[in-house]
Amino acid sequence: MSFLKKIAIGSSIAGAKMFGQRAPVILNWAVTGKCNLRCKHCYGSYGRVQNEELSFEEARKLVDDAAKAGTRRMTLEGGEPLVRPDICELIEYIHSKGIEMSICTNGVLLPKFAERIKDKIDLVVFSLDGIEERHDDLRGKESFKAVMEAADTAVKYGMRSLFFTCLIDENINDIDFVLKTAAEKKGSSAFNIVVSKLSGEKDRTALQKAPDLKLREAMAKIIGLKKKGLPVFYSEQNFTQALLWPDFNKERLYAKDIALLSAKQKKTLIPCQAGRHFCYVESGGNVYPCYQMVGLMQTGNVKTEGFKEAFKQLGRAEYCRACYNITLSELNLQCGLSLESVLKVAGNYLGRY
Ligand code: SF4
Repeated sequence: MSFLKKIAIGSSIAGAKMFGQRAPVILNWAVTGKCNLRCKHCYGSYGRVQNEELSFEEARKLVDDAAKAGTRRMTLEGGEPLVRPDICELIEYIHSKGIEMSICTNGVLLPKFAERIKDKIDLVVFSLDGIEERHDDLRGKESFKAVMEAADTAVKYGMRSLFFTCLIDENINDIDFVLKTAAEKKGSSAFNIVVSKLSGEKDRTALQKAPDLKLREAMAKIIGLKKKGLPVFYSEQNFTQALLWPDFNKERLYAKDIALLSAKQKKTLIPCQAGRHFCYVESGGNVYPCYQMVGLMQTGNVKTEGFKEAFKQLGRAEYCRACYNITLSELNLQCGLSLESVLKVAGNYLGRY
């Protein structure tokens, strides 16, 4: 079933491209703005500032409308998705539509729900910040133990797992530890680089981002480890873009920025597909091209306009064309049908990274 879902995703993107259409094949959705942790490096204000999240009926309508509009994969995010009281029903409903589904979690509540959702979730994405001391310092006491317990639960129930690490200055030397832990827990490892807070809040990257040289060294290291066969999830092309990123003070590049780059620099950029083949629905129902655009542009809302219309409103002209955000760039690669990302998807299915 999982492989069939992947074929459905690939063919939906290919079909849309062939006919020059925009289709929200991949939908990332913050199902709640609430969270049970208060992480120091969180990019949102989860658990503090909360939009009114979609009711179950509204959520179900979004799933129906998205499926009709061509959505074949959903990633449930938050906040912490598992704090939503009706999360199991929602997962069951999405699953009934044949949509591939992943869930991003801090792991705390996974043991409570794993048995019920184990056959419906295609990938569990655990946040892991580094060694125990660092993880607990950033997320709160005992949170490392909680995520390890959750990872063991995933193994017990045969759920595929991915360990997501946002690289900041404090944990940039924990790359080996994270990869070793991911391998021990039969998962793979996704590294990203810290990005600004959402909704135009004060930029945190200046405080938390590692210096330029350290970041480039980390990217080169990850590429080397991936070449050696360690379970690095994202594509080499993606880390190469970050390694050669023109200026880490600029996390997004607009057409006017790209015009100033050399032909060689332009060649390394991964073109944005957000708003064309994937999009982000924030917890209050606003539809953005991706989560990095929250608060930076006017958008439609699924409660008032409906998903189809809100997605339609995402014009391509007025937002960025490339970013160093490794998670988003991977979506850009997948939705651009890059050969490496297509092979990666096939490789993942066959148990390779
Ligand atoms: S380049 Fe695309 S994916 Fe990246 S931040 Fe801009 S809109 Fe989002």
